This record gives sequence, C-alpha cells and structure tokens, in this order.
Amino acid sequence: MPYATTNPATGRVEQTFADHTPEEVEERLARVDAAYGDYRRTSFGQRARLMSSAADLLEGELPDVARVLTTEMGKTYASAKGEVAKSAMAMRWFAEHAEALLADEEIATQARRSLVRYQPLGPVLAVMPWNFPLWQVVRFAAPALMAGNVGLLKHASNVPQTALYLEDLFRRAGFPTGAFTTLLVESGRVAEVIADDRVVAVSLTGSEGAGQSVASAAGRALKKCVLELGGSDPFLVLASADLESAAVTAARARCQNNGQSCIAAKRFVVVDPVYDQFVERFTEAMAAQVVGDPFDPATDVGPLVSLSQRQEVAAQVDDARAKGAEVRCGGTVPDGPGWYYPPTVLCGVSPGMRAYEEEVFGPVAVVERARDLDHALELANRTSFGLGSSVWTTDEDEQRRAIDELEAGQVFVNAMVVSAQELPFGGIKRSGYGRELSALGIKEFCNAKSVWIA
Ligand code: NAP
Repeated sequence: MPYATTNPATGRVEQTFADHTPEEVEERLARVDAAYGDYRRTSFGQRARLMSSAADLLEGELPDVARVLTTEMGKTYASAKGEVAKSAMAMRWFAEHAEALLADEEIATQARRSLVRYQPLGPVLAVMPWNFPLWQVVRFAAPALMAGNVGLLKHASNVPQTALYLEDLFRRAGFPTGAFTTLLVESGRVAEVIADDRVVAVSLTGSEGAGQSVASAAGRALKKCVLELGGSDPFLVLASADLESAAVTAARARCQNNGQSCIAAKRFVVVDPVYDQFVERFTEAMAAQVVGDPFDPATDVGPLVSLSQRQEVAAQVDDARAKGAEVRCGGTVPDGPGWYYPPTVLCGVSPGMRAYEEEVFGPVAVVERARDLDHALELANRTSFGLGSSVWTTDEDEQRRAIDELEAGQVFVNAMVVSAQELPFGGIKRSGYGRELSALGIKEFCNAKSVWIA
C-alpha cells in the first residue's frame, strides 16, 4: 500500500508520500550504520539529555501532534493528546532510569569477580502499527536509544506524517544524524531490510500475519525478533464484583481507541448469579457511548481506521448474528461519510462464530455466561491469544486463582488493562514473545555479556 494520510472521519485522502527508492533506502541504512559507531559510545548522561530534550519538544508541540494522530487514524482528539503526553512521560522515565536498569550486575561465582554487563546490539528495525502511532514507536525507541542502539522505523502505511514527525523530533532533539531514521517502504520490502547485514534485530507490533512474515525473515537471517501481536483479552466479572464500576469500566475498556487496542477487553465472561444485572448495565453503558467527529470533545468513539477495517468488523458481527448470537445494542453500519461503527454487545456467542474465535478490532463486545469461577477461567483461557486479562472480584481467594491461572502476559484486578512504563508489556501464545517497557524491555536489545575475572 502506498503511504497516504486518509482521514477516517471523511474518507478523504489528505496527503500522499512516495515510497523510498532502493537508493534512498541504501543511503538511510548507511546513515544509521554510521551513526551507531559513535552513538554506542555516548554516556547515559548524554543520551538522557537528548531524550529529555525530545520529550520537551514533544510536550511543546502536543496539540499539533495530537491533531496529526486524529487526522491520520481517527482516534478522539482527547485520547490523542493523552497519547502524546504518555509518550513524553515514557521518554523521561527511560532517560532517568536507563543507567540504573542497565548497571553491571555483580554475580557470585568461582571467579575472583564476575558480572553481567549490558551493551547495545546495533541498528534495530521497528515495524509498527497505526493504532497508537506515536506511543508504539516511543515505547520501542526510548529504551532502545537509551541502551545505545540506533533505530530504523517502518511505520504503517496510513500514518506517514507521524512516521516522518518522529524522525524529525529525534533529529531536532540533538540525536546524531541517522540515530533514528524512518523508512517509507511497503511491507513486502521489510524482509530485505531485515536481511541487510547492518540491521541486527527487529521488533514488530502488529497482526499475526505480519508476525509470521517478520519472524520468518528474522529466522532466515538468524536475528533477534520481538513480537507484540493481537489479543482477545478476557474481562471476568465474578459474584462479589462492584457491578456498577465493572460495567462502566468494561464499556470504556472495550471502546478505548475506537475499539482498536490490542489490550482492549474483548470477551466478557460473567458468572451466572450476576450475569443479567451486569449485561443490562453494560449494554446501557455501551449504548450511551457518543459516536461521532473525533475532534468534538463530546465524542467517546470516533471512526474505525479504514473502510476495510469496518467491513471486517461488520462481517464478524453479521456472522455471529446469522449463527444465532443475540445483538443487544449496535450491530448496524450507519449511513453517511466516515467509517463509523456503533458500540455493539453480542450475547450467546459460541465456538464456530468468527467473533468467538478471532480478535474483533472495533467496539464490539462478546459476552459469555459462566457457571462459576472454574468455568469462567476455562472460558477465559479458551483462546489462542494471551495478551492481557482483567478480573473483577473482591474475594482474595478468587483474585489469587485468577492471577495464577489466567493465561496472559498481564492480569489486572478490579481495573482495566493499561500499559505502564515500569511493568513489562507483552504476551504469550499467539500474542507474541518478548517484552517491551520496564527493566525487561530495555534488555531485549542488549547483549548481556558475562564477564569472568580470574
Ligand atoms: P498489521 O497489518 O500487521 O501492520 C502492522 C505493521 O506491520 C505495519 O507497519 C504494516 O505495514 C506491517 N506489515 C503488515 N504485513 C506485513 C508483512 N507481511 N511483512 C512485514 N511487515 C508487515 O497490523 P495493523 O492492522 O496495523 O494493527 C492491528 C494489529 O496489531 C492488531 O492485531 C492488534 O492487536 C495488534 N497490536 C498489538 C499490540 C501489542 O502490543 N501486542 C499493540 C498494538 C496493536 P503496512 O501498513 O505497510 O501494511
């Protein structure tokens, strides 16, 4: 797909960008490689000054950057502003903590002294999605650059302005030329970039299909690969839960980012004694979400990112309806311009329906009835994904069991899943492997060098 900004609220193509030619890609790879030679030797203090300066610039430009995000992918302007602020915060956090996170670790062995030293790997390619176009890149770039690596970005083809802004931001902050470089290349050219000798590793956030392609290319080239893929996160509501809070949070968790978040709650598993009450209140909260112009401050849910994304979500809902699911609210594509889709609640969804088996990337909730905690855990884990999970109960035994038994990279108790720079972020099963953020994430693209001094 050629790079273009197409406004999801109107369907209008606002700006197009030519892909980089093979010569331009070569020139950029050479620039990145050259930048690494000196940048790897900079001190944590120097890197922290550059990263803090990038955070200052980003905060100063917050309203304009947020406007670009909303225009390119349709998220509400309020959430775009939140994404910019969160990205600047993560830059500052890694600027402040990288040195301590990557400090030598003294280990007792038979040697006189032994330790682990964390060193950068080199130029790392990041293949990134459009749904959090700034945050996804920053959560890769801030730790990678603070560790002394340099970055190459292949961003999604529908967010070219954000992709070019990020390169410019790091350049203006004072990072050496090439330390963070955007490549405008279509996905079919990613494998060549991975195979290039100057690229040492790759991080992909995106769909399972992209994960398979990128992991295969990394495997062929024997290069390190981190994959952050899709999710179909369960949201468990147990008998002792605060139902009002659970229902309102459930609607927010499902509709955040217009329903297009990997860690959005997607399957709601509710135990029998509170099922009817929860579904009624949850349906009310979903139906009350205001759908409309993402720049209008009253809007909760803007358009989906593209016409094809809306067609996919509508097809998943229609398939469930045709196979006997009950549509409690929403479920119909509205007339008019823009790729809007209403918040939708589906009950009676069962195996064999697409909405049951697949990730639904839009504001569509699947509700399942469970007999008890055991059954709820069984239903929650009956998925090929394992990204996030959320459980609502005030019973400490139930909390303990859910924390132990939910098959996911993260479990949130009486809260919706969010990402926090201090905690590892990532999944198991078909949601990928490796971790981002936190002390673990910054070490993904480091050589953990064992040192033995006799
Ligand atoms: P996508 O189609 O997989 O695209 C993601 C990135 O991969 C884009 O830059 C895309 O480039 C590129 N790409 C696509 N196919 C490729 C291939 N065969 N080889 C190399 N690169 C390829 O995903 P999306 O639709 O943008 O994003 C939605 C998905 O991302 C959802 O499944 C969501 O759950 C997941 N996601 C996961 C996380 C996480 O942290 N686990 C976070 C956010 C989103 P083009 O745009 O040029 O195709």
